[in-house]
Amino acid sequence: MKKSLILLCLLSIQLILPAQDFNTYFHPKTLRINYIHSGTKDKDSIEVKNYQVDNLWAGSLTNLIDSYDYGCHKIMVYDVKTNQLIYSRTYSCLFGEYRTTEKGATQSKAFKETIRCPYPKKPVRIEFLTRNQHSDFEKRQEIIVNPKKIKALANTIHYDVIDLHIGGNYNKAYDLVIVPEGYAMQDSAKLREDVTRCKNAIMECTPFKESATKINIRAVVSYSEESGISQETKGKEVKTILGSAFYSLDLERYLMLDHVWQLHNVCANAPYDNIIILCNTKKYGGGGIYNWYATVSDNKHFNYVSVHELGHSIAGLADEYYTSEVTVQDFYPKGSEPKEPNITSLVNFESKWKSMLASDTPIPTPVTDENKDVLGVYEGAGYCAEGLYRPWISCTMKDIVYNKFCPVCQKALIEMFDFYAE
Ligand SMILES: [Zn+2]
Repeated sequence: MKKSLILLCLLSIQLILPAQDFNTYFHPKTLRINYIHSGTKDKDSIEVKNYQVDNLWAGSLTNLIDSYDYGCHKIMVYDVKTNQLIYSRTYSCLFGEYRTTEKGATQSKAFKETIRCPYPKKPVRIEFLTRNQHSDFEKRQEIIVNPKKIKALANTIHYDVIDLHIGGNYNKAYDLVIVPEGYAMQDSAKLREDVTRCKNAIMECTPFKESATKINIRAVVSYSEESGISQETKGKEVKTILGSAFYSLDLERYLMLDHVWQLHNVCANAPYDNIIILCNTKKYGGGGIYNWYATVSDNKHFNYVSVHELGHSIAGLADEYYTSEVTVQDFYPKGSEPKEPNITSLVNFESKWKSMLASDTPIPTPVTDENKDVLGVYEGAGYCAEGLYRPWISCTMKDIVYNKFCPVCQKALIEMFDFYAE
């Protein structure tokens, strides 16, 4: 035990890069890698298609190595000459969710994906990793990127940007970009009104409100050819700028897009660490994937959906509910601890919120009136009524209730804002 602890400490020391290393290894620009991600439950492959360059890097200049490991996938960027790890990021993607569905068990499907990193000065080796059934990362692909040899195209799609909330410099803040989807030119007034409502929903919610100096929110003024969203009623196609649609993964309210290359072309008009897509439809729906993007529609639960989906996309939070139309298979494999910070299987509860509990807290904690807003270990979470536990009886990640993130979800969000703000 002691030996492995020492080893762990050594590993983490090796992984932490001093601040000046950003300039040693990177230009303050972004390299976008567009690739095809395809496969099934048991295997996936990555095929890089092209590179793009954006003229600024919005992420942290000091925190270059991911310290959370929440996602299902990961990129690791190594300096070729020294073999030093110089950047890493975990993320999840729609393909990763597709793999957990019945179709994804046997039928291969391809998704157009984009991953970003700071623009390297010297040749780098980039590894793409995916979690296996034991939740361990396995390498799927490795590429060498020589910045002198690749042809990285500049973005040619230009839109105006509105600054909605500026807490600080983009290298020292979590930068969210709002991308309007399904707003035609005649919806211009509504677009401006809706992006402001979205900003307010975020900034009036704890812990976003308290972290205001560590958050920036901007909106790209992007228009679609037609108004509305595809599959609002089944079969209806709408010509929108991003091509998002309901019935994603055959779930009516799951509003997502399969290919994100164009999404990043639109986002690249603003500095951004994460994306919220604002969909011009009254139909209830949305979605959020860790370090990928979130979507929200202009529905009656707009405020709630906005922050709930950002909980997924910013802090990798799990759904704390367990009765739903979600038909995933083995979403959380038995016998393993889920990677999300706000649910536990008790396999490794020490890695979750155990240290935040009062010492006399029973496990599981009974759902009673007295325990309302008491931190505990309540059974039922992550689409499972049994075997998975949540920290609060009713959190914004469980019920349709705005501005009520539990202490564990709040902590995970705050940690992420701090990570980007350092
Ligand atoms: Zn919670």
